Amino acid sequence: MSNTDRLFLAGVIGWPVSHSRSPLMHNYWMKQNKCIGLYLPLAVQPCGLATALSALKPLGFTGCNVTIPHKQMTLKIVDKIDETASTIGAISCITLQKDGSLLGTNNDWYGFMANLKQEHPDWRANAGPAVVIGAGGASRAVCYGLMHEGVEEIRLVNRTYAKADTLAKQFGKSIKPLPWKMRHQALEDVTIVINTTNQGMVGELPLDISLDHLPNSAIAADIIYVPLETPFLTAAKHRGNRTLNGIGMLLHQGIPAWKQWFSIEPVVTPELKEMMESSLIKI
Ligand code: NAP
Repeated sequence: MSNTDRLFLAGVIGWPVSHSRSPLMHNYWMKQNKCIGLYLPLAVQPCGLATALSALKPLGFTGCNVTIPHKQMTLKIVDKIDETASTIGAISCITLQKDGSLLGTNNDWYGFMANLKQEHPDWRANAGPAVVIGAGGASRAVCYGLMHEGVEEIRLVNRTYAKADTLAKQFGKSIKPLPWKMRHQALEDVTIVINTTNQGMVGELPLDISLDHLPNSAIAADIIYVPLETPFLTAAKHRGNRTLNGIGMLLHQGIPAWKQWFSIEPVVTPELKEMMESSLIKI
């Protein structure tokens, strides 16, 4: 069947969701792949989540992405959860199965790793330790991705130590939890440091960290994409470190979603990246 013989319908469920840039990107791919279809922002309050998910099949959706604040609650609603979502403890993508059941997975880890590998192809997982700052939902996906890639030591610093400790106990010995006050020294000898906190996001304070111990060869990555360049990335750039912003993570997690929904592998083109970045600059 050609891409013009069926309706491609998917969306993103969140609350609020009107700010989401996902429709821009998925509808770009609809055009690029000559698909007749639509990717919709679906504004659903937590109290309506179960009803909204049960309506996906009768409405003809192939699947949907799940965003804040529904990523954890969705675990309790879908029919099946794959091992990745279960380990990360959050669902970012749902696919309708042939029998009408809902399968939940998590593609955020893939988005982070694919973006890192595209932007910094010389980075090697086995070249040294990584530091992850933050131990929330996104941190779990980033840690999963780094471990999947073979990073042997991930120093995990979080404001609330207990959360980092819990994550380490679940993920295994590659994760070394450290108290918040160690965040500056933890940067010694690392190949990459990743900010997964909300610090530096528009409306929040900058991440409170000194980069004095960061090797010049290390990559500084932030998964925040509003703004595209956080104060943490600006500081890293000024001292000569290579950087990575969060927009690519959002773009690349869409690739496995399309494979799962439509059996199509879309491409993160420079044009798409530029389009997404310019839509964010306007904020
Ligand atoms: P979350 O689960 O609420 O976790 C928030 C994290 O930030 C926790 O580790 C929290 O530490 C830390 N934090 C909050 N306030 C802090 C402060 N004042 N000082 C130090 N640490 C602080 O949120 P999330 O879902 O992981 O999202 C985190 C960020 O990632 C958000 O900015 C989100 O937009 C971004 N994100 C980006 C993508 C992408 O595709 N690029 C995907 C997902 C998320 P405590 O544990 O001490 O509270």
